[in-house]
Amino acid sequence: MPNSMLAVRFYKPGDLRAEQVPIPEPGPGELIVKSAVALTCGTDVKMYRRGHPLAKPPQIMGHEFAGTVTAVGVGVEKFKVNMKVVSANSAPCNKCFYCLMQQPNLCEHLNDSIVGFTWPGAYAEYVQIPERIVRQNTFQIPDGVALENVASLEPLACVVHGWDLVHQIPGGVAMIIGGGPIGLLHSQLARLNGAKVVAMSDVIEERLQEATQVGADVTINSGKEDLRARISDLTEGRGADVVVEAVGRGETWESAPSLARKGGTVLLFGGCPSGTKVSFDAEKIHYGELHVQGAFHHTPASVERAFRLIVSGQVAIKPLISHDMPLEKAKEALELMGSGKALKIVLRPPG
Ligand SMILES: [Zn+2]
Ligand SMILES: [Zn+2]
Repeated sequence: MPNSMLAVRFYKPGDLRAEQVPIPEPGPGELIVKSAVALTCGTDVKMYRRGHPLAKPPQIMGHEFAGTVTAVGVGVEKFKVNMKVVSANSAPCNKCFYCLMQQPNLCEHLNDSIVGFTWPGAYAEYVQIPERIVRQNTFQIPDGVALENVASLEPLACVVHGWDLVHQIPGGVAMIIGGGPIGLLHSQLARLNGAKVVAMSDVIEERLQEATQVGADVTINSGKEDLRARISDLTEGRGADVVVEAVGRGETWESAPSLARKGGTVLLFGGCPSGTKVSFDAEKIHYGELHVQGAFHHTPASVERAFRLIVSGQVAIKPLISHDMPLEKAKEALELMGSGKALKIVLRPPG
């Protein structure tokens, strides 16, 4: 076995380098996985552009991947060499205040080992999986499941967790703001959670066409149409039962409550640049009894459900993937994704 591998490392905003680095060895409880596919993610685009407060350069980027186990650390019993596996990007400590409060997505020690941020990532031929993730958030992939589909475990787990926080209204109208990969997942989760009508808005026409492939009933180009008027028409003037913000911009956060009906839920899912301030109509939230809900990250329970939803084919991942490139092209891939001309991009390591 060679002792070096290709990896794509982040040095500073705009500076990514494909270079040779040592192949990792597994510590106790860890796995080494030969990555077959890695996916680009909106968070990777943000890190490429702005850096990330947790990432100490040079850091191997990437956190969505699937592959084959090539080495197993002392004490690992669940996984063996040659098994196909997928992992989430983090796992909670199970000991801190938040873990004990059953809010493991808010774990105080989540940042100890987040793959692709505080731990070497998946834009590499081999990925070292931290012990905590091996123990809680790693799964054997059944035969016949496409690795590029299951590699999107982490974003789907976040979306599944978000829907755990929604006051669900079976038979209702769900409005998804933003037709990127995350919006496409939300539109499918809306349906699985009982929405009768799923509406999606975006300013990019191609994305709206993509949305109809994953079951959006109504698409609204909010650059050309009056979003509020369209939602009003769809709901006899009431507003949507659930509104999901999946863009991560102050303006769309602010507009979200105005699209919801009284008693409805506004799920603020898209992360805005840090320091963003937003203002809301207090009267609407108070007298309209809106559930205005933030959502962050995932829990082991949402990761496991996300895994099952992908493996069983209940959530379609293919429509989220628009391009397929060799790993060396990671920089081009993140630029393309950041331009809005691509959804997720599959990055394939050599070999
Ligand atoms: Zn991601
Ligand atoms: Zn914890």
